[in-house]
Amino acid sequence: MIRSTVAHVDLAALQANFRAIQEFISADRKGPPRIKSVNCPAPSIIAVVKANAYGHGSERVALALETAGATMLACADIEEGIVLRRAGVRVPILVFGALSVSDLDGLFEFSLTPTISTPSAARAVQAAAARQKTRAGYHLKIDTGMNRLGFRHDNLRRTLPELLASANLSLEGVYTHFATADEPGHPLFDSQRARFESALDTVKELTGAAKAGHDDFSKVLRHACNSAALLRDSRVWYDVVRPGLLLYGIVPPPLASTIPLTPVMSLTSRVVAVKGLRPGEAVGYGSRFGAQAPTTIAVVPAGYADGLDLRLEGRGQVLIRGRRAPIVGAVSMDMMTVDVTGLEEVAPGDEVVIIGRQGEESWQHIDVREMAAAIGTIPYEIVCRIGSRIERQYSAT
Ligand SMILES: *Cc1c(COP(=O)(O)O)cnc(C)c1O
Repeated sequence: MIRSTVAHVDLAALQANFRAIQEFISADRKGPPRIKSVNCPAPSIIAVVKANAYGHGSERVALALETAGATMLACADIEEGIVLRRAGVRVPILVFGALSVSDLDGLFEFSLTPTISTPSAARAVQAAAARQKTRAGYHLKIDTGMNRLGFRHDNLRRTLPELLASANLSLEGVYTHFATADEPGHPLFDSQRARFESALDTVKELTGAAKAGHDDFSKVLRHACNSAALLRDSRVWYDVVRPGLLLYGIVPPPLASTIPLTPVMSLTSRVVAVKGLRPGEAVGYGSRFGAQAPTTIAVVPAGYADGLDLRLEGRGQVLIRGRRAPIVGAVSMDMMTVDVTGLEEVAPGDEVVIIGRQGEESWQHIDVREMAAAIGTIPYEIVCRIGSRIERQYSAT
């Protein structure tokens, strides 16, 4: 049994996107040569699969990315990491989130790599690793201006020595996160880059001085790039990049990209009923869409419980029979209504494309950026919200 509203996830497209990004970052870099290696090897990719792989389904997506060559995956919290391990992921998994109030045992049981972003998390992970009689590799997060998580860039000499001296912790990566990578020309981006580079120098110096002496800075992975930063400036590629959205075939607005990417997810449904409205009648909660003339309405069994935003009313469109049909009347919990007046013979069973393509013309494609722009949000929110009631159908890899 399968509902008529289905999210199709094209794993071959996902893998092709991964390879296209890899190709892109293998191209010659601008800017000064890298410190670590005269040969300047291309950065590798930490594939970001947090939030159920941006709604695409983290288990299948993670395994497909691993097959495509991802050397590390990243997720938001320990619980997401456990889901990935249980699905059979073998490559290292970096947990981005703060760990101060988490149950840390999962880190060890499922070999997850924590981010340490506060002194208290450092102490908690050190204590847990000591209890487990093991050494935990970790990535250190530096706050260079996002002012969310991370050790402040400007007082590392005070805050880091205790962490770097922790007997059961070993430093494997140092990273930061940009606040304005998708705002071309925003000056904070360059400030963050400068602060990160100076922080790297400080971390290098402090690891050299740390008594434990087990952290070899030349093996430490330096990283900073989300999708937008990756597109914006090759000087911040460092050793590894961390794209999320690009992997799913979506370029973060307002940026454009020459990387050949294919959207990974499409969302389709079927017309379940067709209804005629007489002039003066209205459809749905609030009776907001009134018919001036005889109007034909198709009912589509997907609503806000499936993640379709209420603001699509009067703003969004779907494709039926290769034509665009506006979403009219209130989006309700389990269904929405579209105006198919004048479209030939729309009938129950007809395919409805909510996100994706129905035909070859450019207007026969409703992409996530378009939908996000229509309702004043970002593509991230659209894909992450695709509901748990919707089955993800995976194309073979
Ligand atoms: C989500 C996230 C990313 C990926 O961001 P995209 O904009 O989807 O590429 C990278 N790094 C961190 C720390 C993140 O939280």
